[in-house]
Amino acid sequence: MPILEPTGIGRVRKFLENKEQSIGIIVHTNPDGDAIGSALGLLNYLQGLQHTNVQVIAPNHYASFLHWMPGNEQVLVAEDHREKASEFIASANLLFCLDFNELSRAEQLGADMEKSSAKKIMIDHHPDPGPGFDLVFSDTGASSTAEMLYEFITALSGEKVLNLHMAECLYAGMITDTGSLSYNCNNPRTYEIIACLMRQGVDGARIHRLIYNTYSADRMRLLGYCLSEKLRVIHEAHTAYISLSSEDLARFHHREGDTEGVVNYALAIENIRLAALFTEKEDHVKVSFRSTGDTDVNRLARQYYHGGGHKNAAGGKSFESLKKTLEGFETLIKSQAVSHGQ
Ligand code: 5GP
Ligand code: MN
Repeated sequence: MPILEPTGIGRVRKFLENKEQSIGIIVHTNPDGDAIGSALGLLNYLQGLQHTNVQVIAPNHYASFLHWMPGNEQVLVAEDHREKASEFIASANLLFCLDFNELSRAEQLGADMEKSSAKKIMIDHHPDPGPGFDLVFSDTGASSTAEMLYEFITALSGEKVLNLHMAECLYAGMITDTGSLSYNCNNPRTYEIIACLMRQGVDGARIHRLIYNTYSADRMRLLGYCLSEKLRVIHEAHTAYISLSSEDLARFHHREGDTEGVVNYALAIENIRLAALFTEKEDHVKVSFRSTGDTDVNRLARQYYHGGGHKNAAGGKSFESLKKTLEGFETLIKSQAVSHGQ
């Protein structure tokens, strides 16, 4: 893998020499399975190397179907511990930034990191890395950041360093970022890494159950409601979208993570190339895009929704009302602003 060139790994090895130094592992806002899996995989690795002062920090709360991962109880959630998180980042020697490539993706923690004199190491698979990092490991060809973490950890210490806890976290990251190996999954290397993780004793069926088959009844009913009442299909624009108001969310006692995966159902309709989910939040509308083939939702999210992501999975925000946001979106897709390529 070219991005793990020996000089980069050599510098990391030097950075990691001091076992007492303060190391932060930071993930992006609304962390997903890849962010948490990568962070906890790295935490388990560093603690295994006898690093004594490692702290994973998430900007905000995340879905409960990720809470089973080994080390989860050590994650500091900054929205509950604002000062502690800022103080840790200010006095850290080393900061790992995982699954994001622009400091602003970690919101307030991004501003904290910008001020910190810590060395910042980014490991990420999104396109167009931003400034502010001392060392960049960027691979847009990787299925997930967790896949990159496998390469990173084994480049530093060899396969013998792996253990079941690390493997479970990295496996969860790879599985969630590839829709259980249903997209971003055409690279043989991905399966070689999955095989190595399996050899550590990962129980794939158990992890699938913990992530995907732990719906609350409310969450399942919310999904049903989205599909039967809230799905709008615009065939001529190859687009389908779902929108959820705060009242919709309250009706189903919405909790963090309940709408995860909903957008994929809109993309599963024949001839649909662009799917969107609009979720009304306190001061903005969260926008989630998925696409197939050449339809570039990263561009769409960057250009119109203050966001970004990957070509086929991206997100952003609208600061207009839900109604205006939906009207704007329909105008946009009917105006051919989105090219579906061939
Ligand atoms: P999701 O739709 O699951 O929230 O996010 C899908 C993809 O878009 C992820 O790769 C995520 O990192 C990216 N993404 C989501 N929201 C934002 C955002 O506000 N800004 C940027 N730059 N990327 C986002
Ligand atoms: Mn990812």
